[in-house]
Amino acid sequence: MTDLHPFIAGLPKAELHVHHVGSASPRIVAELAARHPDSKVPTDPEALVDYFTFTDFAHFIEVYLSVVDLIRTPEDVRLLTFEVARDMARQNIRYAELTVTPYSSTSRGIPEVGFMEAIEDARKAAEAELGVVLRWCFDIPGEAGLRAAEETARLAVDLRPEGLVSFGLGGPEIGVPRPQFKPYFDRAIDAGLHSVPHAGETTGPGTVWDALRDLRAERIGHGTSSVQDPELLAHLAEHRIPLEVCPTSNIATRAVADLDEHPVKEMVAAGVLVTVNSDDPPMFGTDLNQEYGVAARLLGLDERGLAALARNGVEASFLDADGKKRLLAEIDTYTSAWLAR
Ligand SMILES: [Zn+2]
Repeated sequence: MTDLHPFIAGLPKAELHVHHVGSASPRIVAELAARHPDSKVPTDPEALVDYFTFTDFAHFIEVYLSVVDLIRTPEDVRLLTFEVARDMARQNIRYAELTVTPYSSTSRGIPEVGFMEAIEDARKAAEAELGVVLRWCFDIPGEAGLRAAEETARLAVDLRPEGLVSFGLGGPEIGVPRPQFKPYFDRAIDAGLHSVPHAGETTGPGTVWDALRDLRAERIGHGTSSVQDPELLAHLAEHRIPLEVCPTSNIATRAVADLDEHPVKEMVAAGVLVTVNSDDPPMFGTDLNQEYGVAARLLGLDERGLAALARNGVEASFLDADGKKRLLAEIDTYTSAWLAR
């Protein structure tokens, strides 16, 4: 069988579901932990690998929040953001919508204007120096409740940084019903932001329906359990509402028991626009290229199939029409050149 990894490595890609703090590589986390020695996060990159091994979703959230606690100054934010873009450039990710949780930082005392300037500085530097175009999705950390929702909506609407395109909702789903966040999504949508909540990762398809009806979701983060409801799958396909599938993440958080049981194949078979993403890549011991490899195996894709998957990422993005056209052309040019070798 052909080794598809060299093709994947060079393939221009868009990533739509990847978290800011969750993209901190062990080296950066170790560096931040050393700068903030009162933290319980290990400073040794090897010890971090053990630290990043999760027992369940609740444990994952706990570890994730301990890393969030390392981001304490605008300089921490700027360094993290630019470093994440550098890792993306190495994988030939050309465009990414990075999910940022500003509440986690501002509620820990980072000045809100300093935070916005830090991400915007990093975004401009990443585009100029690395050729990676970044856009932001500001998400509500669901576990922090309505106060966090209020604050996130205020930061998104009143302080709206230039790169902000969408509004999201993350954190645990169990015990955090989606409909309570409707007023905050309404405000963000009225301000021109796109709606991209997580739903159906650790709960059933009813949560995805809630996200569609109450939060007016235009894309769904994960949506793994959608396959349990044929009517929902048909709705997603008919209305071209893409799913942001993150296979390895689903295994790491035990949302799916086994990679071979991952329902991505059923999603594709139902005609749903499927995109492949890495979620919190270093924490899950993966990256986007590896997730494309997983998708190729699960879906039986060859180079053309992988190029189509990369095209899905662009189509489902909130990049402007010209940007989409350019990136799609890059994918096609790369693929034709590869196949003509
Ligand atoms: Zn996520």
